[in-house]
Amino acid sequence: MFSKILIANRGEIALRIIRACRELGIRTVAVYSQADRNCLHVRMSDEAICIGQAASSNSYLNIPAIISAAEITDVEAIHPGYGFLAENPHFAEICESCKITFIGPTPENIRLMGDKMAARSSMHKAGLPIVPGSPAAIKTKEEALKVAKSIGYPVIIKAAAGGGGKGMRICHNDLTLVSSLMTAQSEAEANFGNSNVYIEKYIEEPRHIEVQVIADRSGHILQLGERDCSIQRRHQKLLEESPSPVVDSKMRKRLGELVLKGIKSVNYVSCGTIEFLLDEKTNNFYFMEMNTRIQVEHPVTEMVTGIDLIKEQIRIASGEKLKIKQEDVHIRGAAIECRINAEDADNNFMPSPGKIEALVLPGGPNVRVDTHIYAGYEIPPYYDSLIAKLIVHGRDRQEAIKIMHRALTEFHVSPIKTTIPFHLKLMENPLFLKGDISTHFVQDMIKEESGIKD
Ligand code: ADP
Repeated sequence: MFSKILIANRGEIALRIIRACRELGIRTVAVYSQADRNCLHVRMSDEAICIGQAASSNSYLNIPAIISAAEITDVEAIHPGYGFLAENPHFAEICESCKITFIGPTPENIRLMGDKMAARSSMHKAGLPIVPGSPAAIKTKEEALKVAKSIGYPVIIKAAAGGGGKGMRICHNDLTLVSSLMTAQSEAEANFGNSNVYIEKYIEEPRHIEVQVIADRSGHILQLGERDCSIQRRHQKLLEESPSPVVDSKMRKRLGELVLKGIKSVNYVSCGTIEFLLDEKTNNFYFMEMNTRIQVEHPVTEMVTGIDLIKEQIRIASGEKLKIKQEDVHIRGAAIECRINAEDADNNFMPSPGKIEALVLPGGPNVRVDTHIYAGYEIPPYYDSLIAKLIVHGRDRQEAIKIMHRALTEFHVSPIKTTIPFHLKLMENPLFLKGDISTHFVQDMIKEESGIKD
């Protein structure tokens, strides 16, 4: 096992990793930007090094500064968390060449899955159903029109290197397809440094269902059930739950088998998530993409399985074998996570950075809060707006919703605006209570509230 690791991240995930390390007896090194001097990860780690100015490109994405910090502090491994460098194969390779273990999959795994088109074709080869679409990058409008004709409208143009819900365009006819293609290509180049785009059938009102996996270096793989992440706004998740209210045991078994096949076929190591779209009209599900990192929503899986994913990820990176067997994995009860963002949900989810003057965190049975905020903390405007994850666990979905509702009413952050009132409304929404949701749910809910009719 490692004796010291560096955490190349900030915010709640940096704290989450520090906590896992403490329990494993590993010393930690935090890195921070000039804007994050007063962050909790700096205080809670054993050592901390400033790696640059506030902008991510000068700090949390600054590979030479991070590697220098790792060498100065003599760590054996780096945990990248999520976001920033977590899915950068070049960074994973540099760590390897500096004899520092990258706590995550191999650079080859990251590279393959980072190209959504390559990921689609490799998972298709392994036997996973994929959304009908173009087999290769679309270069010309003629190619685009041909694909659209064969799969039928609506279609979605996606950036091969896209992520974070960005770089997607929905097209309903030839006219919008042709006019969107060039914009999509130049946006992909500008945002992801790769102009490749491809076309998929746009599934109307699907559910986003993803399966958590963890694999060790000896080829032992576990699949830890699904998460339903259909509550999204602009393709970004706001709430996640496990299990999904619509996945029955037959579908769960099928998903699990397919995921294991896919993971095996690419010799995957570490934590990862395979994302699917479920078309409830036909009950078909399709592989969408794989994320080669720990995800924001990993706690819901931890709550229902009792498995600490970060600890397992660290153990695997240190060369240990997974001790848990698939038959020992049981999904118990239901867990829900609400992402508490510093955003004004009543004002188009506008970011609401600033100083937190007063803070009351919820507590009580079956409530977990993963957060880096404290009274007096100033939320910097440079990074994402996630300030806390509120996670609850109940005997079943109904109980989890009641606990979440209760916990949300206890949660007070002022004077900044947060998504707490939005989540409270969600917990009282009859369709959400029934589990009758799709990726369009939030958009429809907002439209209904504002009285806008289609
Ligand atoms: P990212 O990597 O940017 O998160 P994903 O491929 O995971 O992108 O897609 C994010 C979200 O976009 C999905 O959860 C879903 O809501 C929507 N989406 C993506 N592809 C399709 C599709 N073919 N049909 C309908 N919705 C889609």
